[in-house]
Amino acid sequence: MDTNKAVNLDKLTRDQLRVLRDKGTELPFSGALLKNDETGDYTCAACGAELFESGAKFDSGSGWPSFDQAIPGSITETADDGYGMIRTEVTCSNCGGHLGHLFDDGPKDTTGQRFCINSLSLGFVPKD
Ligand code: FE
Repeated sequence: MDTNKAVNLDKLTRDQLRVLRDKGTELPFSGALLKNDETGDYTCAACGAELFESGAKFDSGSGWPSFDQAIPGSITETADDGYGMIRTEVTCSNCGGHLGHLFDDGPKDTTGQRFCINSLSLGFVPKD
């Protein structure tokens, strides 16, 4: 995480820092935004950048907030071979905070992508 990019560490909890900065993963089905179905934008909890629109959210059954696409340019994808798995790590393009991983088993009728994102890494701004 690049703390020069408007990241306010003071407002983040220890659990959020463990995910955003230390690339941890929250327990499945634990996230406050998992069941959120309001209309609005999902933002980076660290820097406030807009990452996902509510229309891209779907219920993957995985226990983590899931999206079939990101707002263009908002996220960065990096190969991650940790834990003996080849995965694609997803980070915030603005601040570098860890968000989750990208898989190719998303909805076939849209993008086929599944952005598996920690609720702890996200904020939500409802549309009024
Ligand atoms: Fe960020």
